[in-house]
Amino acid sequence: MEYKVKLRGIAVGYVDPKYTSQTCPICRNRNHVKDRNYQCSCGFKTHRDRVAGMNIIHAPVIDGVA
Ligand SMILES: [Zn+2]
Repeated sequence: MEYKVKLRGIAVGYVDPKYTSQTCPICRNRNHVKDRNYQCSCGFKTHRDRVAGMNIIHAPVIDGVA
């Protein structure tokens, strides 16, 4: 029982890495990334890896509140 709860906790906190490096952390637009530089139409630009990091930190927890 306790084991299952822990497993579920991990799944809830998971952020899809497919979009974390594409989604603008400022305006939430999704942009395709060329090279290592991320640039958004809102004017935000940074290193791609930094975008992913920012999104993982700020991503709303997709929580299936049971
Ligand atoms: Zn943007």
